[in-house]
Amino acid sequence: MALLRRWVRQQRRDGVERVVFERDHAAESLPSIQSEPVPTSEIADLEKRFPAWAGSDLIPLAGEILSCRRCGLSETRTQAVPGVGSARAKLVFVGEAPGAEEDRQGIPFVGRAGQLLDKILAAIELSRDDVHILNILKCRPPENRNPAPDEIVACRPFLERQLEILQPGIIVALGLFAAQWLTGKKVSLTRLRETGPHEYAGVRVYATYHPAALLRNPNWKRPAWVDFQAIRKEYDRL
Ligand code: URA
Repeated sequence: MALLRRWVRQQRRDGVERVVFERDHAAESLPSIQSEPVPTSEIADLEKRFPAWAGSDLIPLAGEILSCRRCGLSETRTQAVPGVGSARAKLVFVGEAPGAEEDRQGIPFVGRAGQLLDKILAAIELSRDDVHILNILKCRPPENRNPAPDEIVACRPFLERQLEILQPGIIVALGLFAAQWLTGKKVSLTRLRETGPHEYAGVRVYATYHPAALLRNPNWKRPAWVDFQAIRKEYDRL
């Protein structure tokens, strides 16, 4: 009870005015993931495609993601996009959903926003091989529309499991959807930036601007740079 009271006080301090506890009926009607073991022959193919994950539980999970039919996006995608990066990464970035280029290549953040993310990483002396990059949705929403609530519910177990396997030291939420997903707080990105770092399953979560937002509004590049410098400092402490 004391823990709950402390949590409620923290929510108030973070600007959350209302918390609704409800049963997630949409999630209850979906099958759990990893119900079917992935065949050994398929594992070998997956390890060829994702060599950095060979031998890790990310491999069978990628198999499940690639064949997922949990929501309507499986009808319109070219392919699902499980993620990219080291299986031992201490720093994990979480974006929103694949765009057109990611849907074509099967790799997250390879379009214009991805190129900017690479530049930001280089500026803090990191590369894609040092980190892990994931999305909330593994499939592209048509016309790059926002993720729909039922799609987020259907895809949720994949990101939860990826984070469980990776056990990062820091998670960076890129943009509002990721920041709200990871913190569980339905407040603005500005608020989440200002009140961070937050926590997801005991891991520090930094909320910052999505690189696509930085391309649209270069005025946000300066505050984003402040965030990334703080992230690099924290990374050095791990
Ligand atoms: N935007 C995202 O959030 N994720 C991607 O993979 C690409 C663009």
